[in-house]
Amino acid sequence: MGHHIIAGTLIPGRGEPISDGTVVLDGDEIVFAGRTTDAPGRSSEDTVTEVDTVLPGLWDCHAHFAGLTDPDLMKIATASPITSTARAVPDAAALLDAGITSVRDVGGLGLKMQPAVEDGSIRGPHIHAAGRILSTTGGHGDIHALPLDFVHDVTCQHGFSILCDGVPEVTRAVRLNLRDNAKLIKVCASGGVMSEIDHPMHQQFSDEELGAIVAEASRAERIVAAHCHGKAGIMAALRAGCHTIEHGSFLDEEACDLMLEKGAMLVPTRFVVEALLPQMDLLPRYVYEKGTMVADAHAQSLKLAIAKGVKIAAGCDIFVSGAMYGQASREILHLINAGMTDLDAIEAATAIAPDTLGPQAPLSGQLKAGFDADVVAFDTNPLDDRSVWGDASRVTHVWQLGSRVK
Ligand SMILES: [Zn+2]
Repeated sequence: MGHHIIAGTLIPGRGEPISDGTVVLDGDEIVFAGRTTDAPGRSSEDTVTEVDTVLPGLWDCHAHFAGLTDPDLMKIATASPITSTARAVPDAAALLDAGITSVRDVGGLGLKMQPAVEDGSIRGPHIHAAGRILSTTGGHGDIHALPLDFVHDVTCQHGFSILCDGVPEVTRAVRLNLRDNAKLIKVCASGGVMSEIDHPMHQQFSDEELGAIVAEASRAERIVAAHCHGKAGIMAALRAGCHTIEHGSFLDEEACDLMLEKGAMLVPTRFVVEALLPQMDLLPRYVYEKGTMVADAHAQSLKLAIAKGVKIAAGCDIFVSGAMYGQASREILHLINAGMTDLDAIEAATAIAPDTLGPQAPLSGQLKAGFDADVVAFDTNPLDDRSVWGDASRVTHVWQLGSRVK
């Protein structure tokens, strides 16, 4: 028995849109996507849904489930991980309702939530998770105002970060994440904005440590995602063979060229920059100061990367529980505003997105026979009306592995 989704417009993820299209699902797989006139005949047992516009389920390639109530990472230290997970459960459902059927969780509770999503205990996108972020002592994954041993315990319990220094410790940190079934490894290769003392322009981890992290991950067919703002961290991550650059705030011509040469991808996360800047009064003072320093450079870097043809995937970097998760598709609009065509921005959130997982990529992100039956429908064609991006109420249907979940 098949399910036929008949659409006024079919946007396949890669390639040109099709007017009067049909997607046929059989079990958890797409068996046909194309013109309705070419679709296989329907038997009396087949079911039918008519929609306005159909797309592949969207991806958020830089997600976090943290259960924080405001944008202050220090709060991790004062909440039980169970309480935080309880807060993150509706965030997962909100992503799904917004049309996000897959996320790449780059640090947080997602690794432990993933089995509960897959067995149907909670609603949420497929979670491909990194587990704990590898950070140097004093680096972006540290909480600098708190005693070090306490930080180590609390950040590990929350699945947030693991502090490690030197080749033996970073190698062990990768292995600990692999032991938890992490599908990728996340590392802080530069300082960050949300942490207190460290500087976004400084490289974190030595070339030798980054090389050891990539080597250990590669042996298990995992890619390494590198958080980087400053150029020194970006270049070190690329030299070491990291597959994705997260944020990439200070990319220049040379760095873009090295990304192209290495076949590395950029996950710019413009969403979080745009979302946090208007909330400055809620942020710790150091976040405000570092955030304003990074924001404009980040906008220029993104435009340059698009113009240079760097491979880009959509990711949001939302880490505060609540309404933002329902707005995750707005990253597509940010990519359009930075210079992408509408179709290229959609591809960044669909067909290109699984590539951020390297060898662990599922067959997802395209309306194409043989791909996972993760499918979304909107109430209008997003190529004609960009107001759908960021608005979950415009998502009329969501199918996940062939089951209708909205
Ligand atoms: Zn992040």
